[in-house]
Amino acid sequence: MATKAETVKEESRFLRGSLPDELTGDGTAFTAEAGSLLKFHGIYQQDDRDQRRQRTRAGEAPAYSCMVRCSVPGGILTADQWLAIDGLADRVADGTLRLTTRQGVQYHFVHKGNLRSLIGELNRSLVTTYAACGDVVRNIMVSSTPTPDHDLDRLNGMATALANHFQPRSGAYWELWVDGERAVSAGPPSEPEAEPIYGRTYLPRKFKIGVAWPGDNSIDVYSQDVGLVLAPGPDGQPGAVVLAGGGLGRSHTDATTFPRLAEPLAWVPDDSITDVVEAIVATFRDHGNREDRSHARLKYLVEQRGIGWLRRQVEDRTGQPLSAPVPLPPWDGSHRRYLGWHRQDDHRWFLGLPVPSGRLADLEHLARRTAVREVVNATGAEIRLTPHQNLLVCGLTDDDRAVVERVLADHNVPAAAELSLSVLSSMACPALPTCGQALGEAERVLPDLTDLLDRLLTQRGLGDVAIETRMTGCPNGCARPYVAELGIVGRTKTAYDVFVGGDPAGTRLAELLIESVPFTKLSDIIDPLLERYQDGRLHGEAFGGWANRVGTSALAEGLPSFARSARAGTGAER
Ligand code: SF4
Repeated sequence: MATKAETVKEESRFLRGSLPDELTGDGTAFTAEAGSLLKFHGIYQQDDRDQRRQRTRAGEAPAYSCMVRCSVPGGILTADQWLAIDGLADRVADGTLRLTTRQGVQYHFVHKGNLRSLIGELNRSLVTTYAACGDVVRNIMVSSTPTPDHDLDRLNGMATALANHFQPRSGAYWELWVDGERAVSAGPPSEPEAEPIYGRTYLPRKFKIGVAWPGDNSIDVYSQDVGLVLAPGPDGQPGAVVLAGGGLGRSHTDATTFPRLAEPLAWVPDDSITDVVEAIVATFRDHGNREDRSHARLKYLVEQRGIGWLRRQVEDRTGQPLSAPVPLPPWDGSHRRYLGWHRQDDHRWFLGLPVPSGRLADLEHLARRTAVREVVNATGAEIRLTPHQNLLVCGLTDDDRAVVERVLADHNVPAAAELSLSVLSSMACPALPTCGQALGEAERVLPDLTDLLDRLLTQRGLGDVAIETRMTGCPNGCARPYVAELGIVGRTKTAYDVFVGGDPAGTRLAELLIESVPFTKLSDIIDPLLERYQDGRLHGEAFGGWANRVGTSALAEGLPSFARSARAGTGAER
């Protein structure tokens, strides 16, 4: 029997459903059915979790608002686009912008009545929210740092081609948001257009694609449903190694859900890449689980049926045999190397500016959002959003450098060198109060966690050690905690599961060490680990590499007793 989610898609007349009526209706909230269609348009209806209990007790409706996400392939924005995005934050949102872990931008606390003006204005600046969420191919990630060694024309050309190819074809988006009058005046919509790739029910769930430069794993390419790594073929022809079957979401209550790394599928020449990726997407469309959304990801298909089965599917659908993947060079996952000033080419510079948790806001003594706006206004710089929620200010001349330095100083914006390694090596998802899935805090307590790490590392004489740390408010894993050296995953409002052992290059999964550690007791777990790391690490060995080598069973033996009993119920040995 079709699930509710599938029925809503099927009966939506290609993403319309009741949205035209509900958008013009009086209520402050959308129905659940409309809410599930809104996601395809880049919108999540949420309620303020901080107010939920109080309002329920008072018999009041939840404080509804929306999160609106811009889809930005490769995170690349012109100066005009950035200024348009920035200008809307005050007018229709909460005055902040949040840079996402997939190189997009989010607005929070957007009220229903402001959705049309927000999305309409974004589109006038050629920024879309279409397919930023929903059961479709999401924003394409790219190693788009403008260093001279990256062939950005190829990287970005590939990403743009894929983004255009997989954007939904339904005109609902433009009717609803760009030409709003039609949505309310055209009467009952006629039978809409076809979706040649997705069909009436779109995909079983989201689908993530990333394009990586060889050696630069800042996009965590193994966490993608499909990862493309540019690599010449056996005869030197341009192409890419296609990785497939990655994904990080899991559930605390269902042991059959798990994070998984993508594995090599094939080497594909440039001119066949779109066809091959479409064949993979179509395989997921036709064979993905449409009865249980917690298992509706390509990774479960690849795990159950094998990469050879997926290869045969692609060969049958394209009518072409696939070539074996070629070996890839070693990875460097250190995104921190792109912070600070760097040469873009012989005449220009770019500045990597850290934005903790991706939150661009103006605080009383630190006005990051205003500083970036003034820099862009003064220099016309292009902005690139990184997969670690930082921001690259690009295309700056020698003269621009002085301007940028002055503006940042005027607004007390710290440079990368002024922030601790723990701050620069960590990221968190938004979690409470906006995310409806959040079980606990993430972004709001990350500064406490990085302060703790800084203090413990310094006390242990490890002040020069960076530990790639990711924190999320639930096991869905939006900040990619399962490929971190230290992953802190929300289990309840106050307690977290601790994962260790990923590597800084993002090529190995972390393992569950312990469940349900109260936030206030994390130091009782982390400090003994650091003590043993300090004593037992090999020369140059990263924390994650050491933890993986020692293993979670042996690491658990050194934990305090409360932690060992908490571990007994984890299933961490599986
Ligand atoms: Fe929300 Fe969970 Fe994603 Fe965090 S990881 S943003 S809590 S869904």
